Amino acid sequence: MEDIKDFGLEELKESLLNKGYPRFLARQVFSWIYGKRIEDFSLMTDISRKARKFLENNFYISGLKLLEKETSIDGTEKFLFRLRDNSTIETVLIPEGKRNTLCISTQVGCRFRCAFCVSGINGFKRNLKSSEITGQYLEVSRFKKTKPVTNIVFMGIGEPLDNFDNLVKSIGILTDPSGISLGKKRICVSTVGIIPELKELIALNLGVKLSVSLHSADAFKREKLMPIAKKYPLDELIKVVKDFCRKIKVPLTFEYILIGKVNSSRQDALKLAKLTKNINCKVNIIPYNPSSYFKWLKPSSEEIEGFSDVLRKYNLLFTLRKPKGWDINAACGQLRAKFGCK
Ligand code: SAH
Repeated sequence: MEDIKDFGLEELKESLLNKGYPRFLARQVFSWIYGKRIEDFSLMTDISRKARKFLENNFYISGLKLLEKETSIDGTEKFLFRLRDNSTIETVLIPEGKRNTLCISTQVGCRFRCAFCVSGINGFKRNLKSSEITGQYLEVSRFKKTKPVTNIVFMGIGEPLDNFDNLVKSIGILTDPSGISLGKKRICVSTVGIIPELKELIALNLGVKLSVSLHSADAFKREKLMPIAKKYPLDELIKVVKDFCRKIKVPLTFEYILIGKVNSSRQDALKLAKLTKNINCKVNIIPYNPSSYFKWLKPSSEEIEGFSDVLRKYNLLFTLRKPKGWDINAACGQLRAKFGCK
């Protein structure tokens, strides 16, 4: 038995064809599962009895088990899910005006060990299957019938480009017109900057947005904060990012966690302004969300002011994010860590 939610539309067409069923059966199944949200083959009434029996005997339809749900005073909601192998993952729903952005995980744990991020403290366990990636959207949508998810960011636990095939497959499922049909521009992939996969993503031209976790415009400092930068250096990353902007013509986002006394001086801001000068981008400044696992400090209000001041002077487009869900450990990996999850 295979999980039907691990199939992209084209894959399912192929698989059904190989078993003697017409390709259009795949689209019918897709529209039942992802459009009408029916997870029982016997209820798929426009499919012949014979085909339904065949589906029942050959596929199952997986779901995620909700273990814990916490709501922050600012409206952010955090979901902790249990997977079939007892691994756990987190998903965060962030309401902002008319938007409801869902922050999705792509891996159990993370192998990149950024110095400020809880996701990697227990190491890496495995990639999420595409059913587990899209499952986060499907499960949260079930709860949120009155407050539908409008946007998806791949900014939960894990590195999306390190689970490239399942990332691409999930984006295909989330945007397919016969099902969820989410607009491509409403999806954003966030990465530490894995250059080969980044190039592949650009070549695929999926139409989704891209966000690059920068955290410092100084190559040496960035390597200290993000060890992967030793393998994929900042200057090469910037070249690829410029390529993205030239080809895709959608503004790119840089994420920049402002950590007290680390990357938050006026000098740091000046470097950031210079590095991003000719790039069609916006910078998201996120004050560091403290965790008991690390010694890093929140930036002081003087640091935040000084940093923003310089960016304004250089006309850099930026947003200063209020960290969301402070009270419910909404930064990457914090809820999992709190529950001692592996
Ligand atoms: N691996 C991808 C996606 C997951 S992290 C990436 O790094 O882009 C999503 C964002 O949350 C990243 O910018 C990450 O640096 C940030 N983040 C991690 N820990 C944080 C913390 N304690 N406070 C604020 N932001 C954090």
